[in-house]
Amino acid sequence: MAQHFLLSAKARTLSLAKVMRLSDEEAYGTFKAIRWAETEGEPVCPRCGGLEAYSYASRRIFKCKACGSQFSLTTGTIFASRKLAIRDLLAAIAIFVNGAKGISACQLSRDLDVQYKTAFVLAHKLREAMALEVHASKLGGEVEIDGAYFGGYVKPENHKADRKDRRLKENQSGKRRVVVVMRERSGKTRPIVRYSEDEAVADVLDNVKPASTIYADEGSAWDTLHDYYLTRRINHSIAYSDDGACTNQAESYFSRLRRAEIGTHHRISGRYLDCYANEMAWREDHRRIANGQQFESVVALALAHPVSRKWKGYWQR
Ligand SMILES: [Zn+2]
Repeated sequence: MAQHFLLSAKARTLSLAKVMRLSDEEAYGTFKAIRWAETEGEPVCPRCGGLEAYSYASRRIFKCKACGSQFSLTTGTIFASRKLAIRDLLAAIAIFVNGAKGISACQLSRDLDVQYKTAFVLAHKLREAMALEVHASKLGGEVEIDGAYFGGYVKPENHKADRKDRRLKENQSGKRRVVVVMRERSGKTRPIVRYSEDEAVADVLDNVKPASTIYADEGSAWDTLHDYYLTRRINHSIAYSDDGACTNQAESYFSRLRRAEIGTHHRISGRYLDCYANEMAWREDHRRIANGQQFESVVALALAHPVSRKWKGYWQR
């Protein structure tokens, strides 16, 4: 039997040990080569795009010859105003990509010996950078659509007589959201977080190209989609799959997100649900590439991402 990809040596091209053995100089060089890949590591001014810059012997900053602005390796990226050393950032990214079900901020803070708040913001910045790729282009071809509820868990009362029907809206906390995922068959995964599947119909129209084929279950929200796409439905009370009509790939995305919720984060609040949903979509789409490549691609996404409006100075507010 052929060996599973994740068990093969090809899947392991990066280890935390390798990252931690890098000297400061090597860590800096790695970052530089990824940030300025197009110029083979030569600095490019983030302000004017100038290719000529002075460098200083004493500090790792550059000064643009064209516009005179000073910049560093992380200026204008999601790592701007970073507190961690470059090697620690690389180590954080290595730990982050190796966690198939995601990684909690608490564990990251222990692994790196940094404050919880630092780890929390750093992990969210990485998720934000991943989201950039997840939402980059429209989906097309054969697209599966499905929704699943997350968050807003209501604990049942101790005594049976006091328990309420938690399926009813009036007995819920109002924090529950639906994650609707659109997934190209053997292609990209795109999640959206809304209050209901009905609300997500507009997102499907925005995100899925015309002339695509949609696969969905019997949820009434999806009826509208028949007007726009060739649509095939599967009634899950009869079968999971019928002559190619199924939403199994959408379901497997949910199983990954559910495991991240239950196994890693324990609770995902509505406020950050979209961040985790995007992260797990990225992981789903990159699950069959070597972890070294995953690492490089997350570093590259983070360095291509502008300063985060959401997470910069998050705890100072
Ligand atoms: Zn410049």
